[in-house]
Amino acid sequence: MWAPRLLRAQQGVTKLTDKLAVIDAGGANVTAFVTSEGLVVVDSGAPNTGDAVMAALKSLAPNAKVTTLFNTHYHLDQTANNEMFAAQGAKILSQKRTREWLSRDYWVPGEERYVKARPKAAWPVETFVDKGSLKSGGEDIDYGYLLMAHTSGDAYFHFKSANVIAVGDVASPVRDPELDWFTGGWVGGRTDSMDLVLSISNDQTKIIPAYGPAMTKAEFKAERNMMEEVRQRIYDRVRAGEGPKDMLEGGALEGLPRKWKDPAKFLYSAAKGGWAFHDKLGPNVV
Ligand SMILES: [Zn+2]
Repeated sequence: MWAPRLLRAQQGVTKLTDKLAVIDAGGANVTAFVTSEGLVVVDSGAPNTGDAVMAALKSLAPNAKVTTLFNTHYHLDQTANNEMFAAQGAKILSQKRTREWLSRDYWVPGEERYVKARPKAAWPVETFVDKGSLKSGGEDIDYGYLLMAHTSGDAYFHFKSANVIAVGDVASPVRDPELDWFTGGWVGGRTDSMDLVLSISNDQTKIIPAYGPAMTKAEFKAERNMMEEVRQRIYDRVRAGEGPKDMLEGGALEGLPRKWKDPAKFLYSAAKGGWAFHDKLGPNVV
């Protein structure tokens, strides 16, 4: 006879500790931390998920009062419900560049289109450049800049007592890693930022990516090591004057512990970023 499967208290809510949960918001992760002053949330979810996110938050804390919303970066899957949280009185906080991308029209060169600025209600009201910390209900939450890892405004948010770090798209266990090269994201920034996250982690730390389940430090380190191998290959190939097509045909992503769904797109971004930062590749680039 089949035993009934255990039902989770709320669909799409995964509790990592008694105070911290990850909410599935249209595939994108929303991290929610319960404090005695209210909820502290990282990222607001993908478009059309507002009601589901609110229901999930209510399952964690009855009045679901959100005091602070952090954004890991400006992409729509992480910021679509910013206005909803702001309307309920949450203070939105991000790295300075993320506010700039949210508050201005910009051109996406690879897709040949403009993206309009988000309404003012979606903009972070408080920003930081390097790092900072927030106290809420006696809990310490540290945050800091992950320089050029995925966009130009990535940040980590470290819930100290829960031993959980939300890093947005700086970790990408289930999707191809993306480098928002036209904002400054590049593979060297990514590995340096992953090293920074490792330096504040221990063996029990859980790391929450933008998509997919929470990672252990060992899983995060494995992705970092894979990215470091990619970085070295791309550096060598940019030094040799290769473009993304040469890299693809030369097997630049072959033999790695993961397969890319769209290797051409990744190598285009990685090569663009590599050329943008060619002065960091050493003296031999001509
Ligand atoms: Zn992103």
